[in-house]
Amino acid sequence: MAGHRKGEKAAVELLDECWDGSLPIDPVRIAKSLGVKVLDTYLKQNVSGALVKKQGEDPSIVLNAEDSTTRKRFTCAHELGHYIRRAGEREHQQRSRRSRRRAWNQRQLGSAGTDASSVKEHP
Ligand SMILES: [Zn+2]
Repeated sequence: MAGHRKGEKAAVELLDECWDGSLPIDPVRIAKSLGVKVLDTYLKQNVSGALVKKQGEDPSIVLNAEDSTTRKRFTCAHELGHYIRRAGEREHQQRSRRSRRRAWNQRQLGSAGTDASSVKEHP
């Protein structure tokens, strides 16, 4: 599918820009290099993570503290994908409407099943 190919291209470009080529790739480090905080927190059992963006604050990725390291790595990379896609969208539509952004923020927070004030920094 075209969507997948676009995602792969974006991932390759991101690694080109932000990664030195060593393995395993650490999505937490990549996120931090982009100014995205990564936090471990307690989420509903069926929620692995979320991208959280509050108005006027830097975005952060929350991960379920009870997931395995491998699972968290995957989740972090996945949420980073959402972040990259949204950053790309922002470039296209220079003026995004405030109300729409607020709606998006609330949706993300809702899906995280968490209150962002209860999260703690990823080590
Ligand atoms: Zn997702």
